[in-house]
Amino acid sequence: GNTPSPAPSARFQFDRPALPALLMQPSSTAADEGVTVGLRVRPLLPRDRAEGAHECLRKVAGEPQVVLGADRAFTYNHVFPPEASQKELFDGCMQPIVDSVLQGYNATVLAYGQTGSGKTFTMSSSYTAAVAAGEDVGLIPRTIATVYEQASGEGSGVKIMSANATFIEIYKEEVYDLLSTKASDGSCPTLPIRENAESGGVTLTGQSSKPVESVEGAMAVLAAGSCHRQTGATAMNATSSRSHAIFKLSLSIKLANGTTFAPKLRFVDLAGSERAKRTGASGERLQEGIHIN
Ligand code: ADP
Repeated sequence: GNTPSPAPSARFQFDRPALPALLMQPSSTAADEGVTVGLRVRPLLPRDRAEGAHECLRKVAGEPQVVLGADRAFTYNHVFPPEASQKELFDGCMQPIVDSVLQGYNATVLAYGQTGSGKTFTMSSSYTAAVAAGEDVGLIPRTIATVYEQASGEGSGVKIMSANATFIEIYKEEVYDLLSTKASDGSCPTLPIRENAESGGVTLTGQSSKPVESVEGAMAVLAAGSCHRQTGATAMNATSSRSHAIFKLSLSIKLANGTTFAPKLRFVDLAGSERAKRTGASGERLQEGIHIN
């Protein structure tokens, strides 16, 4: 409803429902599990093979575990091998998120990994008509489509009353509004960051929010912002792998019993993780890395 939702919690996949405690509903689905981590191993690309790269990870059959080299094993909630399709990835780990959002919970999906590891591919955070038309369409469009499909299904017990989308990019300490009309130099305007004295949370002032009425509408907003991000990247000397992008869909939903919720579904494409770990970086590079992370 009209109540302010709690401050976003970027680290957790699910935070409290966007409602006062009074109206909170217990959820027996993934909301109880908190953070879920899936590992995706991308296939070797022709350019990797040309450099003489070879597979060094082995997935343990029937377990969400990979073995690196001879004996270093790592276990996650999900592991997707190189041959896993986008659909398999979605089917394997996203349904609980869709269910939780339609129960009123906030959900955040983060993609983390070094540049070239497949974050953009997996999320479809750089969304174009070509991506939309192919089988390789990724998690963001698939998740939003499923939210709409499920809500409109017979006996779903939930109705989407309205929805709005925002799309921002964070580079160093500036927040860029990817949905705002660009300045004559081709850059997107920056947004002031303010601390909210009451809630202690951080808010962005003057952020563009686009009304969305369907999955196609949400995707059009994603495509428009993606295109600003790419052109912005050229202007800023290819910073896209060094910036974070956050696409947010704010829904207003009504359950069969008349209760309303305002869940937010966020998708975060993080900057390449190599910047955080690079050792030996100094001077300007080091400062940039510090700002980004
Ligand atoms: P990042 O966003 O992490 O920098 P990208 O998503 O741009 O990485 O992926 C790098 C390259 O690898 C792209 O050409 C992309 O199409 C390809 N790629 C990534 N993941 C896969 C995959 N699962 N299957 C096929 N190609 C992939």
